Amino acid sequence: MPSKAAIAIGAHPDDIEFYMAGTLLMLKQTGYEIHYLTVANGNCGSVQYNAAMLRSIRNTEARAAAKILGARFHPSLTNDLEILYNLELLRALAAIIREVKPRIVLTHSPQDYMEDHMNTARLAVTAAFARGMPNFKTAPPRPTADYEVTIYHAMVNGLRDPLRRRIIPGAFVNTTSVHKTQLKALAAHKSQQNWLDVSQGLNSFLLAAEDLSLAVGRLSRKFKYAEGWRRHLHSGFCGPDTDPLAEALGRNYLVNQAYERSLDRGF
Ligand SMILES: [Zn+2]
Repeated sequence: MPSKAAIAIGAHPDDIEFYMAGTLLMLKQTGYEIHYLTVANGNCGSVQYNAAMLRSIRNTEARAAAKILGARFHPSLTNDLEILYNLELLRALAAIIREVKPRIVLTHSPQDYMEDHMNTARLAVTAAFARGMPNFKTAPPRPTADYEVTIYHAMVNGLRDPLRRRIIPGAFVNTTSVHKTQLKALAAHKSQQNWLDVSQGLNSFLLAAEDLSLAVGRLSRKFKYAEGWRRHLHSGFCGPDTDPLAEALGRNYLVNQAYERSLDRGF
């Protein structure tokens, strides 16, 4: 096991490519081993195929995308819309965390337009929290380890929470140099092109990803393409100022000072 690992935990196949893959690629360049897990298998994301067929198609697509990213692929754990905050998923996810021993966990925003995304974030947080608790049994059983982990929450579609409030990045990662690879990985999810046209009016999901990266880049006022992150509170995970993305990425990482100041003011 390398000393540095990062895992992206998304809800559905293609979420990692939309919100997290640029940062994964940047971390890989600095020597991190990167891991790819979507909790659900994408079995509801089509009006063309039945669930079993789609599960298989999307598994193949996700594996291809992970390969393009150079990430280690972890099989999905459940079906779409079945990502509930339950013990079975928690035990399974905690086992993966104990195997990978990530220094960095990238996952969804705690406020997001989709429950699957929000429950994924909650599960990821607790699975990381339980990394050193021997009395919490994982499935399959995995030994605990004591180490620091830092969790970062991704941006959301449209940069709005479910109550329509804007979500502002706490920090930016410059993804300009890996943007093409990120889109190539997203394009591996071929079945989603038509589905997102039908279900959400995204006339091209590649264009949507392009727009999001550009929009976050503009917010940074520094990078052309960027991914935005909000760092989880340290309690139970790492030191109060531990920020391994900053350590790893240096000039390709920018803390949003306006956001930092807003944290003390509250709403
Ligand atoms: Zn999703």
